[in-house]
Amino acid sequence: MSHNDSSVTDKQRPEPVVIPRAEHDISRQNIDREALKVLYRLRDAGHAAYLVGGGVRDLYLGKTPKDFDISTDAHPGELRKIFKNSRIIGRRFRLVQVFFRPDKIIEVSTFRCSSEYDLDGEEEVLAANNTFGSPVEDAFRRDLTINALFYEIENFTIIDYVGGVEDLNNKIVRIVGDPERRIIRDPVRMLRAIRHAARSNFSIEPATWAAIVKHRDKLTLCPDSRIRDEFFKDLRGGASRAWAELALESGIFFVLLPFYRACLSGPEGAANRERLLRLLAVSDRLHGEGTQLPEEMLFALLLLVWAEAEMGLGGEPLKGQQAFAFSRDLRSALDANLADLNIKRATREVLTGLLVNLPFCVQCGGDGNWPKWLQKKSYFREVSQFYALCREAEAGEKAEVAFAEKERTSEQHRRPPRKRSGGQRSSRQPAFAKGGIFGLKK
Ligand code: ATP
Ligand code: MG
Repeated sequence: MSHNDSSVTDKQRPEPVVIPRAEHDISRQNIDREALKVLYRLRDAGHAAYLVGGGVRDLYLGKTPKDFDISTDAHPGELRKIFKNSRIIGRRFRLVQVFFRPDKIIEVSTFRCSSEYDLDGEEEVLAANNTFGSPVEDAFRRDLTINALFYEIENFTIIDYVGGVEDLNNKIVRIVGDPERRIIRDPVRMLRAIRHAARSNFSIEPATWAAIVKHRDKLTLCPDSRIRDEFFKDLRGGASRAWAELALESGIFFVLLPFYRACLSGPEGAANRERLLRLLAVSDRLHGEGTQLPEEMLFALLLLVWAEAEMGLGGEPLKGQQAFAFSRDLRSALDANLADLNIKRATREVLTGLLVNLPFCVQCGGDGNWPKWLQKKSYFREVSQFYALCREAEAGEKAEVAFAEKERTSEQHRRPPRKRSGGQRSSRQPAFAKGGIFGLKK
């Protein structure tokens, strides 16, 4: 759209497209009660206030939003006065959290000016009166057009400054403004574009796509913690397969996980890619049915193909000294590869255990006939569950697994798997042919 340009000033920008109530399906009934209370309270106090961001996008698409964010012209200090039970958080982008119950928070931000959001160098300190902006500036500083819509409660209209409604209708992910400039200012936007395309099965608009491919390496300039947060959302979000496809195609995957480059591009590249995608699809399937995998399980699925191709995992289970040495080498390779992602030590330990013990599961077949020595291990349950996930990926047999909430949070208290894993005596046949974990690796 011609007005989709963040470099112009407010005056140069055309009037927004306003979508009246009769022309959209967003109903107040689907909006969180507390979010509505905040909107009405702000209006009654004489302020402009809108529902913004992902909440409007999801409502428009008929999905249940994860959170309802509000933008207003009230400044943080004013918000604190209007909402007694609130607090200001964040240093640069001050945000007010309004508490309704201990577990119910609505986040309210004051309209930001685009320059504030895109400020990237420490030397570029903005004057205090430049910090807050107008609704139009707030819309133009947002990442994607589909995330830049406003919904207001006076006439229940959607206000669209950036062509977001048209993009939602056409299932298009487009960075607001000049994609190259917006990505250079904040490379994390590349991950956000790919996430929303994967999640909603949207296509990425060509100029946005070209900018991602061109500037993908700039992702490494972002703080590790931000990349980690975004990456974890993708891995856990229920669309990790579609995410990986786009990340692979754009090359972002190898910027995030450079150690994967060799085995996904060599002669075995296509087959390895396909296996990796199938493993991720298992986590998506479970997510869709309400089961969230623990972090070590997600990473084990993500890293299995690499561990086989680059570390030689698979085949006959190792014993004694060999098993010990293999575990140690795998663990140090994992530590090196995952260093930037700041994954807890306990998680890395369990993750190593899941991978190194998988060949035993394959060997004994996993039909409930586990060898006694394996059943006695502290990590037996995790290993057998991981095996079930892999089996689903390889053989299509639906994994019946359940993970208690506390299992995910108490990982620090779990005993790490023992390094020595020799002594197995099972004479059962492998579930699949030999060679690679499931016999598919050549
Ligand atoms: P989700 O459903 O995952 O919460 P979301 O779009 O709401 O998706 P949030 O991380 O909650 O994502 O961000 C809220 C809003 O803040 C976004 O919709 C977008 O408008 C804006 N935003 C977030 N990150 C950026 C960014 N890096 N650059 C510009 N705008 C951003
Ligand atoms: Mg959100």
